[in-house]
Amino acid sequence: MKLAILALAASANAFTSPSSAARPAATSLKAATATLPATVKPGVVTGDALMDLLAYAKERGFAIPAVNAVSSCGINACLEAAAKYGGPMIVQFSRGGGQFLAGKYLVKEFPDEASVAGCVAGALQVRELAKFYKVPVILHTDHCMRDWLPWFDGLLEANEDYFAKNGEPLFSSHMLDLSEDTIEDNIATCVEYLERMSKVDLLLEMELGITGGEEDGVDNSDVDSSKLYTQPEEVWQVYEALSKVPNGKFTVAAAFGNVHGVYSPGNVQLDPQILHNTQAFISEKLGGDDKKPVYFVFHGGSGSSREDIQYAIEAGTIKMNIDTDTQWSFWDGIRAYELKNRDYLQAQIGNPDGDDKPNKKYYDPRMCLRSAEEATVKRLGAAMEDLKCVNVL
Ligand SMILES: [Zn+2]
Repeated sequence: MKLAILALAASANAFTSPSSAARPAATSLKAATATLPATVKPGVVTGDALMDLLAYAKERGFAIPAVNAVSSCGINACLEAAAKYGGPMIVQFSRGGGQFLAGKYLVKEFPDEASVAGCVAGALQVRELAKFYKVPVILHTDHCMRDWLPWFDGLLEANEDYFAKNGEPLFSSHMLDLSEDTIEDNIATCVEYLERMSKVDLLLEMELGITGGEEDGVDNSDVDSSKLYTQPEEVWQVYEALSKVPNGKFTVAAAFGNVHGVYSPGNVQLDPQILHNTQAFISEKLGGDDKKPVYFVFHGGSGSSREDIQYAIEAGTIKMNIDTDTQWSFWDGIRAYELKNRDYLQAQIGNPDGDDKPNKKYYDPRMCLRSAEEATVKRLGAAMEDLKCVNVL
């Protein structure tokens, strides 16, 4: 079965987009009865099990949060949220996140190698732990632009090694973001990589149009606004080309006004109607019964309104990226901990209970980091509610 997944870049804004007034009513409810496929087991899911999980999400009408992790605490917060709220989880690493996991000391000398090693270390950590949380987890890497292909190549080598030993790839999927190229160059390179990835059962997420804003050192805040909205014809070009790759599993991040980051209301014009129009366009081209042939991914999910998110899910969005909101929750947990315990955090010895009282149990780094984890788990619970990803296992 050929399965296409389109990643839709959507915006970050906690207010209603103007397009919402004209939206049609919610689509079919038959999906609510769908049950989790037997192939989807606790632990990291890849290959056919991954496709079954994404198909289940689309059929049942929910999307899976994809969270950028930069530390073991970030990873554990993802796994804890998945276990606590009863949904699958996507743990993803950016190039910079992989570098941070490897240690900033290594970055200058080995920018790509360090990121590969950091991502692999993070992936192995997830693989070791996920089964204990009893939830399915998708392992993914985030935006890779053309200049960063050595990082991507290194990740593919790690997957190929892992596949040779274990019969499945280390990761579930990777993202290639060549949206700044012409569409022809973008598609040609994606086809080339998908041919290689398909041999080891990896899924490719590609991007069409540009996600605005700034993230992880890539600044698209000045980009021409027409690039922020993908045309259905462009998605069709991608769908046609990538569907021809044997065993090709892919998703497309098609921009619909999405922006990385969280901004004041009024700065972002999200148009998830583009996703609905695209499904209709491609469904007609294919001529079959499938009204939503495309799997969409929503970038720049942080700060988006529940209404926009759920309208995008109705159009077949099965993955939404969250980074900025969990960056905030992580920090906010530390901030709240420091505020509550400030008088016990000013010296190793001496606090309001006495000049000779030790403060060790307050400045143990596990204390503030646990507070960060707890705040992030709570924020992810709210995201999972928005995504209808609660109690779906
Ligand atoms: Zn993104």
